[in-house]
Amino acid sequence: MTADTYDDDVALRAYVLRHFSHLMTALERRVTEYNAPIVSDSNHSKIAKLHEFLEDRDGHVDDADVIATFETPYEDRIASAVDRVLSTRRDQLLENRCPHCQRLVRTPIARQCLWCGYDWH
Ligand SMILES: [Zn+2]
Repeated sequence: MTADTYDDDVALRAYVLRHFSHLMTALERRVTEYNAPIVSDSNHSKIAKLHEFLEDRDGHVDDADVIATFETPYEDRIASAVDRVLSTRRDQLLENRCPHCQRLVRTPIARQCLWCGYDWH
């Protein structure tokens, strides 16, 4: 996407995914951050450790729910998680927009717009 082809919906969805995944539910994070199901009964010690970390960070997610959600393709899992954040938690989303062109800038704390070049440091 360039400044000429900027699409606010596309930009907003990418921004939510990149910077506000903490507004997703534990299940949504579990099935959008990894492209394989991270479940409790893994035989691999690294996966078991990752599972433990995620349970601590996000709270418990049932393996059956993770497996069931993986029936949905990755792009659709992401789209529905982002949809839910936008429809139910938009008030908690810090939309950092350029004061000059109103486009979403790269991060919630950026003070420079890579679309139009405006700098408000
Ligand atoms: Zn701008």
